[in-house]
Amino acid sequence: MRRAIVAANWKMHGSKAFIADYATAFDAALREIAIPDSVVVVLFPPLAYLGELAALSVQAGWTLGAQNLHPEVSGAYTGEVAGEMIRDLGANWVLTGHSERRAHAAESAELVAQKYAAALRAGLTPVVCVGETEAQREAGQAEDVVRQQLAPVFDRVGAAGMLAGAVAYEPVWAIGTGKTATADVAQTMHEVIRGELANLSAEVAAVVPVAYGGSVKSANAAELFAQPDIDGALVGGASLDAQEFAAIVAAASVEAS
Ligand code: PEP
Repeated sequence: MRRAIVAANWKMHGSKAFIADYATAFDAALREIAIPDSVVVVLFPPLAYLGELAALSVQAGWTLGAQNLHPEVSGAYTGEVAGEMIRDLGANWVLTGHSERRAHAAESAELVAQKYAAALRAGLTPVVCVGETEAQREAGQAEDVVRQQLAPVFDRVGAAGMLAGAVAYEPVWAIGTGKTATADVAQTMHEVIRGELANLSAEVAAVVPVAYGGSVKSANAAELFAQPDIDGALVGGASLDAQEFAAIVAAASVEAS
């Protein structure tokens, strides 16, 4: 059975006080939810707070990830962090290719593929984020853009590498804008992504989770999760509220049960 991932991308938000309150509130909220084994809850805080969160003994039903990594294991790369260091801090997951990094840090599809491969080498579970801009969608290029973002990752890590990770479809026009893709629009792209995964192998298509991201909140989560090819969500803004994020975990748990 395919897992669903419900992930919180805190981006560059938080503080020591925030994470202490959040962890307590989130832990309490999760205790009220019957989360099936097929639902994985991951928090992606800013790197600065990864160790702090890992040290909190309350982490019962959730795991941790980093928002970025460097493709090299170590070296003269000031300001960067290696996958092994992320593991060392107590995290198991990492995001690669988030659209904010593709846009603001000029990350190419090839660099994203290198990072995905580095994450695997470090024993992390990578999530490759893909998605088109509004202009690309309006120009009818959305599917091609997503295919072109996936291809270098597939080429580099193959079926085995994809089986060890996950995909997140995040249309750029829906991130942080309050404009969620309709369930139909999202499902259509998820089906395209599933088709690309199937080109690697039937097993890859059957097993690899494809989560949706873009203004997901508790009010729209259930409809998205009901789609056959949507396996959870990568949640930005709404994940900063522990109760709201827990409600999204609850929606995924209902769908998976
Ligand atoms: C994200 O940052 O990956 C994201 C989907 O953000 P938001 O939920 O705020 O649109």
